[in-house]
Amino acid sequence: MDVLNGHCLCKGVSFTVDAPEHLDSCHCGQCRRWSGGPNISLDFSQVTFQNKQTLKWYKSSDWAERGFCDKCGSSLFYRLIDDPKKMTVCAGAVNNLSDKVTITKEFFIDEKPSFYELAGDRQKLTGAEVFALYGAEESN
Ligand SMILES: [Zn+2]
Ligand SMILES: [Zn+2]
Repeated sequence: MDVLNGHCLCKGVSFTVDAPEHLDSCHCGQCRRWSGGPNISLDFSQVTFQNKQTLKWYKSSDWAERGFCDKCGSSLFYRLIDDPKKMTVCAGAVNNLSDKVTITKEFFIDEKPSFYELAGDRQKLTGAEVFALYGAEESN
């Protein structure tokens, strides 16, 4: 499997991750506030850090934390407090993602504002469907 490099704007955080087979997107209010738009990320992955000098974690719910760079402000990772070894990775932080990789799911479609739309067809789940499918742990 290909390994891709990634980093924040200032490179205070740099890492490698296995090349993903698909991406996910989330329209929930928290993800949009954190990302500045819809969040597009690699599914839960094993991340190897080369540098995490400026990495900080913000506890955004009772069950999850969001990782960001304390110096440049880049949004980077999301992990479950009970299972912190794997984390989702913001797609924008990863170099050289394949053109063949596509977004296969849109989460919290019922929270998506009408001023944008992701092109293409894929599975779209409401917040209630996300909770039913994964339990509270996987969302927000
Ligand atoms: Zn940075
Ligand atoms: Zn979300």
